[in-house]
Amino acid sequence: MDCLFCRMVAGDVPATVVHETDRTLAFRDINPQAPTHVLVIPKAHHPTVATLASDDPDLLGAVIRAARQVAVQEGLATEDGVEPGYRLVTNTGPAAGQTVHHVHLHLLGGRDLGWPPG
Ligand code: AMP
Ligand code: ZN
Repeated sequence: MDCLFCRMVAGDVPATVVHETDRTLAFRDINPQAPTHVLVIPKAHHPTVATLASDDPDLLGAVIRAARQVAVQEGLATEDGVEPGYRLVTNTGPAAGQTVHHVHLHLLGGRDLGWPPG
């Protein structure tokens, strides 16, 4: 299987890594849509957030906890608060625009993100 994000986990494709644990990796999106745009992934390959939630819910929790730590690093949240705030987006399937089929959370922040999203 040829998966871009698995290749990044393996170190075969360069990534600007901002956070890493034994089970998760976070790196800057190559085409940022906000001042902070980081992708947070499990190192293990799971196609979507839905399959990850079914197959390894503890790992999904680890990915969300990693995202929070990145948000704190980026000044988007505090250890005990949610100011100024950030958004986690998980595109699932073609209508949502999922292009990489290794589950990833988009962590967006640093500007007024607006609602509803496009
Ligand atoms: P999605 O469209 O939700 O599947 O998101 C895939 C994301 O991966 C897009 O925001 C791309 O900009 C990003 N992306 C693609 N290739 C790379 C890369 N080599 N390094 C960092 N981000 C990438
Ligand atoms: Zn993968």
